[in-house]
Amino acid sequence: MEELIPENSTLARRIRAAASKGTLSHAAILSGSGDRMAAARYFAAALECEGEGERPCLRCRQCRKVLEDIHPDVVTVRDDGHKELPVELVRQLRQDVYIRPNDGARKVYIFADCGQLNQRDQNVLLKIVEEGPAYAAFLFCAEKAAALLPTIRSRCVEWKVAGQPETPEMEQARGLCRVLAQGKTLPAAQWLVSLENRRIKREQLQELLQDAWLLTAQALLLQAGKPEDGTLPEEAALLSRSLSSRRLEGLSALLRQYSADCAYNVGAGHVLGALCAQWERLLHATR
Ligand SMILES: [Zn+2]
Repeated sequence: MEELIPENSTLARRIRAAASKGTLSHAAILSGSGDRMAAARYFAAALECEGEGERPCLRCRQCRKVLEDIHPDVVTVRDDGHKELPVELVRQLRQDVYIRPNDGARKVYIFADCGQLNQRDQNVLLKIVEEGPAYAAFLFCAEKAAALLPTIRSRCVEWKVAGQPETPEMEQARGLCRVLAQGKTLPAAQWLVSLENRRIKREQLQELLQDAWLLTAQALLLQAGKPEDGTLPEEAALLSRSLSSRRLEGLSALLRQYSADCAYNVGAGHVLGALCAQWERLLHATR
Protein backbone atom coordinates (compact mmCIF):
# COMPACT_ATOMS: atom_id res chain seq x y z
CA MET A 1 0.00 0.00 0.00
CA GLU A 2 1.30 3.44 -0.92
CA GLU A 3 1.61 6.35 1.49
CA LEU A 4 -1.48 8.46 2.04
CA ILE A 5 -2.07 11.90 3.42
CA PRO A 6 -3.48 11.85 6.98
CA GLU A 7 -7.26 11.38 7.08
CA ASN A 8 -7.66 14.28 9.49
CA SER A 9 -5.48 16.76 7.58
CA THR A 10 -7.14 19.92 6.32
CA LEU A 11 -6.47 18.86 2.75
CA ALA A 12 -8.11 15.43 3.17
CA ARG A 13 -11.14 17.02 4.81
CA ARG A 14 -11.48 19.57 2.02
CA ILE A 15 -11.19 16.90 -0.66
CA ARG A 16 -13.89 14.79 1.05
CA ALA A 17 -16.15 17.82 1.41
CA ALA A 18 -15.78 18.72 -2.28
CA ALA A 19 -16.26 15.08 -3.33
CA SER A 20 -19.49 14.75 -1.37
CA LYS A 21 -20.82 17.95 -2.94
CA GLY A 22 -19.70 16.70 -6.34
CA THR A 23 -17.56 19.78 -6.88
CA LEU A 24 -14.12 18.17 -7.23
CA SER A 25 -12.61 19.84 -10.28
CA HIS A 26 -11.46 17.73 -13.23
CA ALA A 27 -8.16 19.61 -13.31
CA ALA A 28 -6.14 20.30 -10.20
CA ILE A 29 -2.69 21.44 -9.20
CA LEU A 30 -1.28 19.88 -6.04
CA SER A 31 1.43 22.26 -4.91
CA GLY A 32 3.47 22.82 -1.77
CA SER A 33 6.21 21.05 0.12
CA GLY A 34 4.18 18.09 1.42
CA ASP A 35 3.73 14.65 -0.11
CA ARG A 36 2.07 15.73 -3.36
CA MET A 37 1.84 12.21 -4.81
CA ALA A 38 0.08 10.95 -1.69
CA ALA A 39 -2.36 13.85 -2.00
CA ALA A 40 -2.87 13.08 -5.71
CA ARG A 41 -3.69 9.43 -4.93
CA TYR A 42 -6.17 10.51 -2.29
CA PHE A 43 -7.75 12.89 -4.82
CA ALA A 44 -7.87 10.13 -7.45
CA ALA A 45 -9.49 7.77 -4.95
CA ALA A 46 -12.13 10.43 -4.25
CA LEU A 47 -12.85 10.57 -7.99
CA GLU A 48 -13.09 6.80 -8.39
CA CYS A 49 -14.68 5.82 -5.06
CA GLU A 50 -17.94 3.90 -5.30
CA GLY A 51 -18.47 3.75 -1.55
CA GLU A 52 -21.50 5.12 0.22
CA GLY A 53 -21.11 8.17 2.39
CA GLU A 54 -17.87 10.09 2.49
CA ARG A 55 -15.52 9.74 -0.42
CA PRO A 56 -12.89 8.43 -0.63
CA CYS A 57 -14.02 5.65 1.69
CA LEU A 58 -10.59 3.96 1.27
CA ARG A 59 -12.30 0.58 1.59
CA CYS A 60 -14.21 -0.07 -1.62
CA ARG A 61 -12.72 -1.96 -4.55
CA GLN A 62 -12.04 1.24 -6.49
CA CYS A 63 -10.32 2.98 -3.59
CA ARG A 64 -8.15 -0.01 -2.83
CA LYS A 65 -6.97 -0.28 -6.39
CA VAL A 66 -6.04 3.38 -6.46
CA LEU A 67 -4.19 3.11 -3.17
CA GLU A 68 -2.32 0.02 -4.28
CA ASP A 69 -1.46 1.84 -7.49
CA ILE A 70 -2.98 -0.89 -9.67
CA HIS A 71 -6.08 0.92 -10.90
CA PRO A 72 -6.12 0.60 -14.71
CA ASP A 73 -7.76 4.00 -15.15
CA VAL A 74 -5.47 5.95 -12.84
CA VAL A 75 -2.30 6.62 -14.76
CA THR A 76 0.80 8.14 -13.24
CA VAL A 77 2.74 10.03 -15.87
CA ARG A 78 6.41 10.24 -15.04
CA ASP A 79 9.75 9.35 -16.48
CA ASP A 80 12.40 9.00 -13.83
CA GLY A 81 15.21 8.58 -16.33
CA HIS A 82 14.78 11.92 -18.05
CA LYS A 83 14.63 15.58 -17.28
CA GLU A 84 11.69 16.00 -19.60
CA LEU A 85 8.94 13.61 -20.61
CA PRO A 86 9.51 12.03 -24.02
CA VAL A 87 7.37 13.54 -26.79
CA GLU A 88 5.86 10.14 -27.64
CA LEU A 89 4.51 9.76 -24.12
CA VAL A 90 2.54 12.97 -24.33
CA ARG A 91 1.32 12.10 -27.84
CA GLN A 92 0.19 8.67 -26.63
CA LEU A 93 -1.64 10.27 -23.78
CA ARG A 94 -3.51 12.53 -26.17
CA GLN A 95 -4.98 9.40 -27.79
CA ASP A 96 -5.37 7.38 -24.61
CA VAL A 97 -7.61 10.02 -23.09
CA TYR A 98 -10.33 9.23 -25.65
CA ILE A 99 -10.40 5.56 -24.72
CA ARG A 100 -13.16 5.21 -22.15
CA PRO A 101 -12.26 4.05 -18.62
CA ASN A 102 -12.62 0.28 -18.41
CA ASP A 103 -13.02 -0.23 -14.69
CA GLY A 104 -13.57 3.06 -12.88
CA ALA A 105 -15.96 5.93 -13.47
CA ARG A 106 -13.16 8.29 -14.39
CA LYS A 107 -9.87 8.28 -16.13
CA VAL A 108 -7.31 10.06 -14.00
CA TYR A 109 -3.89 11.23 -15.11
CA ILE A 110 -1.44 12.12 -12.37
CA PHE A 111 1.57 14.15 -13.49
CA ALA A 112 4.12 13.32 -10.84
CA ASP A 113 6.53 16.14 -11.62
CA CYS A 114 5.41 19.09 -13.70
CA GLY A 115 9.02 20.20 -13.97
CA GLN A 116 9.23 17.42 -16.60
CA LEU A 117 6.61 19.09 -18.79
CA ASN A 118 8.09 21.52 -21.28
CA GLN A 119 6.10 24.25 -22.97
CA ARG A 120 5.22 22.13 -25.99
CA ASP A 121 3.91 19.29 -23.79
CA GLN A 122 1.91 21.72 -21.75
CA ASN A 123 0.28 23.18 -24.83
CA VAL A 124 -0.74 19.69 -25.94
CA LEU A 125 -2.12 19.00 -22.47
CA LEU A 126 -3.95 22.30 -22.37
CA LYS A 127 -6.04 21.19 -25.32
CA ILE A 128 -7.12 17.96 -23.63
CA VAL A 129 -7.70 19.65 -20.30
CA GLU A 130 -9.99 22.10 -22.12
CA GLU A 131 -11.63 19.86 -24.67
CA GLY A 132 -11.10 16.32 -23.38
CA PRO A 133 -13.97 13.99 -22.48
CA ALA A 134 -15.89 14.68 -19.28
CA TYR A 135 -14.66 11.48 -17.61
CA ALA A 136 -11.01 12.58 -17.81
CA ALA A 137 -9.30 14.24 -14.85
CA PHE A 138 -5.82 15.74 -14.59
CA LEU A 139 -3.82 16.10 -11.41
CA PHE A 140 -0.64 18.13 -11.72
CA CYS A 141 1.94 17.79 -8.95
CA ALA A 142 4.43 20.64 -8.67
CA GLU A 143 6.14 22.24 -5.72
CA LYS A 144 5.22 25.60 -7.19
CA ALA A 145 2.23 26.14 -9.46
CA ALA A 146 4.45 28.45 -11.53
CA ALA A 147 5.95 25.29 -13.11
CA LEU A 148 2.82 25.30 -15.27
CA LEU A 149 1.84 27.75 -17.98
CA PRO A 150 -0.68 30.40 -16.90
CA THR A 151 -3.08 28.99 -19.51
CA ILE A 152 -3.14 25.59 -17.78
CA ARG A 153 -3.20 27.14 -14.31
CA SER A 154 -6.27 29.13 -15.23
CA ARG A 155 -8.09 25.81 -15.87
CA CYS A 156 -7.06 24.21 -12.58
CA VAL A 157 -8.01 24.50 -8.96
CA GLU A 158 -4.89 24.71 -6.83
CA TRP A 159 -4.70 22.60 -3.67
CA LYS A 160 -1.89 23.25 -1.22
CA VAL A 161 -0.19 20.19 0.21
CA ALA A 162 1.36 21.21 3.51
CA GLY A 163 4.59 19.62 4.68
CA GLN A 164 4.57 17.64 7.89
CA PRO A 165 5.14 19.87 10.88
CA GLU A 166 8.42 18.89 12.46
CA THR A 167 8.26 17.11 15.80
CA PRO A 168 10.11 18.65 18.77
CA GLU A 169 12.20 15.45 18.89
CA MET A 170 13.38 15.96 15.31
CA GLU A 171 14.27 19.54 16.11
CA GLN A 172 16.30 18.36 19.10
CA ALA A 173 17.92 15.61 17.04
CA ARG A 174 19.11 18.25 14.60
CA GLY A 175 20.55 20.23 17.52
CA LEU A 176 22.31 17.15 18.87
CA CYS A 177 23.82 16.37 15.46
CA ARG A 178 25.11 19.93 15.11
CA VAL A 179 26.89 19.54 18.46
CA LEU A 180 28.23 16.06 17.64
CA ALA A 181 29.55 17.35 14.31
CA GLN A 182 32.05 19.44 16.30
CA GLY A 183 33.81 16.17 17.14
CA LYS A 184 34.41 17.20 20.77
CA THR A 185 33.51 15.70 24.13
CA LEU A 186 32.63 18.74 26.21
CA PRO A 187 29.94 20.40 24.07
CA ALA A 188 28.23 17.04 23.61
CA ALA A 189 28.37 16.34 27.35
CA GLN A 190 26.88 19.74 28.14
CA TRP A 191 24.13 19.28 25.61
CA LEU A 192 23.21 15.83 26.92
CA VAL A 193 23.25 17.03 30.53
CA SER A 194 20.87 19.82 29.59
CA LEU A 195 18.44 17.19 28.30
CA GLU A 196 18.68 15.34 31.57
CA ASN A 197 18.09 18.56 33.49
CA ARG A 198 14.92 19.12 31.52
CA ARG A 199 13.82 15.65 32.67
CA ILE A 200 13.34 14.23 29.22
CA LYS A 201 11.12 11.13 29.19
CA ARG A 202 12.44 7.80 27.99
CA GLU A 203 10.01 7.67 25.04
CA GLN A 204 11.00 11.16 23.91
CA LEU A 205 14.68 10.30 24.21
CA GLN A 206 14.11 7.18 22.14
CA GLU A 207 12.50 9.19 19.36
CA LEU A 208 15.20 11.85 19.53
CA LEU A 209 17.99 9.26 19.28
CA GLN A 210 16.22 7.49 16.43
CA ASP A 211 15.92 10.77 14.53
CA ALA A 212 19.58 11.55 15.20
CA TRP A 213 20.51 8.05 14.04
CA LEU A 214 18.56 8.65 10.83
CA LEU A 215 20.59 11.82 10.22
CA THR A 216 23.86 9.89 10.69
CA ALA A 217 22.63 7.17 8.32
CA GLN A 218 21.89 9.84 5.72
CA ALA A 219 25.32 11.37 6.35
CA LEU A 220 26.93 7.98 5.67
CA LEU A 221 25.03 7.78 2.39
CA LEU A 222 26.32 11.22 1.47
CA GLN A 223 29.90 10.14 2.23
CA ALA A 224 29.37 7.18 -0.07
CA GLY A 225 28.24 9.66 -2.73
CA LYS A 226 24.75 8.20 -2.96
CA PRO A 227 22.03 10.85 -3.14
CA GLU A 228 22.39 14.14 -4.90
CA ASP A 229 23.59 16.94 -2.71
CA GLY A 230 20.88 19.23 -1.44
CA THR A 231 18.22 16.52 -1.17
CA LEU A 232 19.00 15.61 2.44
CA PRO A 233 18.76 17.62 5.66
CA GLU A 234 21.42 20.20 6.39
CA GLU A 235 22.62 18.33 9.51
CA ALA A 236 23.27 15.15 7.51
CA ALA A 237 25.47 17.18 5.16
CA LEU A 238 27.22 18.80 8.12
CA LEU A 239 27.98 15.44 9.75
CA SER A 240 29.25 13.98 6.50
CA ARG A 241 31.65 16.90 6.06
CA SER A 242 32.81 17.18 9.66
CA LEU A 243 33.37 13.60 10.80
CA SER A 244 35.58 10.90 9.31
CA SER A 245 33.75 7.86 8.04
CA ARG A 246 35.02 5.74 10.95
CA ARG A 247 33.74 8.25 13.50
CA LEU A 248 30.48 8.61 11.70
CA GLU A 249 29.98 4.86 11.55
CA GLY A 250 30.80 4.56 15.25
CA LEU A 251 28.41 7.38 16.13
CA SER A 252 25.65 5.91 14.02
CA ALA A 253 26.04 2.56 15.79
CA LEU A 254 25.94 4.26 19.20
CA LEU A 255 22.77 6.19 18.45
CA ARG A 256 21.12 3.08 17.16
CA GLN A 257 22.14 1.05 20.17
CA TYR A 258 21.00 3.63 22.71
CA SER A 259 17.71 4.34 21.00
CA ALA A 260 17.06 0.59 21.17
CA ASP A 261 18.05 0.56 24.84
CA CYS A 262 15.35 3.14 25.56
CA ALA A 263 12.78 0.45 24.79
CA TYR A 264 13.81 -1.31 28.01
CA ASN A 265 13.02 -0.06 31.39
CA VAL A 266 16.09 2.08 31.89
CA GLY A 267 16.13 5.68 33.01
CA ALA A 268 16.77 8.40 30.44
CA GLY A 269 19.59 9.73 32.63
CA HIS A 270 21.33 6.37 32.51
CA VAL A 271 21.13 6.24 28.71
CA LEU A 272 22.40 9.80 28.38
CA GLY A 273 25.36 9.11 30.70
CA ALA A 274 26.33 5.96 28.82
CA LEU A 275 26.03 7.67 25.44
CA CYS A 276 28.25 10.49 26.65
CA ALA A 277 30.93 8.09 27.90
CA GLN A 278 30.86 6.06 24.68
CA TRP A 279 31.10 9.18 22.54
CA GLU A 280 34.23 10.24 24.46
CA ARG A 281 35.70 6.77 23.97
CA LEU A 282 34.92 6.86 20.26
CA LEU A 283 36.62 10.25 19.87
CA HIS A 284 39.77 8.88 21.49
CA ALA A 285 39.76 5.71 19.45
CA THR A 286 39.24 7.35 16.03
CA ARG A 287 40.35 10.36 14.11
ZN1 LIG B 1 -14.13 4.05 -1.92
